Amino acid sequence: MEKKTECEIVQDLLLGYVDGILNSESKKLVEQHLLKCSNCQKRLQEIQEDIKENENNQKKEIDYLKKIRRRSKIKSIIFLIIAIILIFLCIYLYKFFILNSISVKVSKKFQTDNFYIETISNAGFEGDGIFIDETWYKDGKFKTKNYIKTENDEISQDFGTMYGKIGENEVYYLNENNKTATKEYFPFERKKETLVTFPNPIFPSSMNKYMLFKLGAPFFTKISHDNKEIGREYYKLQLGENELWVDMDTGLPLMSFGYSSQTEYYNDTKIPKRSSKGICQYKYEFEVVTDEMVEMPDISEYKIEEINMFE
Ligand SMILES: [Zn+2]
Repeated sequence: MEKKTECEIVQDLLLGYVDGILNSESKKLVEQHLLKCSNCQKRLQEIQEDIKENENNQKKEIDYLKKIRRRSKIKSIIFLIIAIILIFLCIYLYKFFILNSISVKVSKKFQTDNFYIETISNAGFEGDGIFIDETWYKDGKFKTKNYIKTENDEISQDFGTMYGKIGENEVYYLNENNKTATKEYFPFERKKETLVTFPNPIFPSSMNKYMLFKLGAPFFTKISHDNKEIGREYYKLQLGENELWVDMDTGLPLMSFGYSSQTEYYNDTKIPKRSSKGICQYKYEFEVVTDEMVEMPDISEYKIEEINMFE
């Protein structure tokens, strides 16, 4: 076997030398040889450069992996945000189209020149009777009646009958019992859509003309549907503590519920003795109102009083 030259021995040890794992004798041998051999010095330099380059490459690789991981993390966050936005957008659009279709249906329904609306609500506590609001409309003329009816079907309070014309400022309040008439002026001409007043969140009368209201309503309105108690499908619209049931076919409100401020407390306490929930029921009839229903009776025998609150 050929004996290894000193250079060969030293070069075999160089890797160990660089790693710092040689015993002191071998280390001494290598260092002494390196002092006098430029060939082995060169070899050492090459090894050191190789190691350095290797380290650099490894670092680059790690950096690259980190970058990829960071990028995919950002990507999944963006994806999640987009998914959430899309879900909210779908819910919003679903609500917007339902509310919009209701308001379009109602508006169409009241383009007719002949309708009757009745709203019945609880006037106060149980037994106090029901508050009735009736409106008849035909060919630009209208009449409204407000009264409280007791359980025995008797009118306990009559707020009179109001007669008016669309496009005019004045209305007449007639009390047919004591033959008095009050002429009252409004600051604005009467409009047909103001005869039809519905609760939130439809407002087919005037509010739905405001784009901001139309765009905002879907954010605040909860929409579900049901057919309980009525026997036909209706949308249940909830806005805060108020609830409105809307007929799916016609878009017309059927019932509304709200919280009445009328609460009776036990003396010196905040404990309610009884509280009443405001409930309102709506009834509609189309193409049945006759001229007699909206024509003002002859008031030549009436005592007429004029009120102009805006003078
Ligand atoms: Zn050598």
